[in-house]
Amino acid sequence: MLITNRLKEINKKISSNLSLVAVSKTRNNKEILESYKSGQLMFGENKVQELTKKYEELPKNIQWHMIGHLQTNKVKYIAKFISLIHTVDSIKLMKEINKRAFNENRNIDCLIQIHIAKEKNKFGFKIHEINDVLDLARDFKNINIKGLMGMGTYTDDLDIINNEFKTLNCEFLKRKNFEFDTLSMGMSNDYKIAIKNGSTMIRLGSSIFGKRK
Ligand SMILES: *Cc1c(COP(=O)(O)O)cnc(C)c1O
Repeated sequence: MLITNRLKEINKKISSNLSLVAVSKTRNNKEILESYKSGQLMFGENKVQELTKKYEELPKNIQWHMIGHLQTNKVKYIAKFISLIHTVDSIKLMKEINKRAFNENRNIDCLIQIHIAKEKNKFGFKIHEINDVLDLARDFKNINIKGLMGMGTYTDDLDIINNEFKTLNCEFLKRKNFEFDTLSMGMSNDYKIAIKNGSTMIRLGSSIFGKRK
């Protein structure tokens, strides 16, 4: 019941037009099913192998989101079922997603991942590249770019995170309505700052399922 209660508390606190992605990486089917039974349908995974296994084993109306770095050679394993890819971080990847989506006779919704954090090891395009990426994306008829995704710096300094999220929201707002409807930002440690800065989709793992081992 712990997971159910945590989910209830979170849903009470957030507005109903904010999307909640339950980040289920490393969690087992039992934990995922508990949250599913309490109404959670969107789940996020960061590894293709784990994601495809869970897709096979769990209810088919779950909406699976890819939230981890995606290698080009693995797109084919998720193309038929993935509901949103948050982590488009290269043109090569975009091209491959488009090709595999075409083969599956569908369109795949994607977010452009933007590098806003101080850490060098995080993935994503730079802010000044967004327009070029969007221009190129227009040629890829089988992907829909729905918006932007970003991860804040992992730090206790809330001002740093606040500024990063503010910057990303500014880019989102410039293109909202005619192109974008989704701004994916905010994890367990920083989702309140993300919501304050216009996030439309938060990705929570540990605040729903508890600490990861
Ligand atoms: C793991 C992960 C999350 C969730 O992290 P928590 O701190 O457990 O909420 C969100 N987004 C991405 C991209 C992740 O890899």
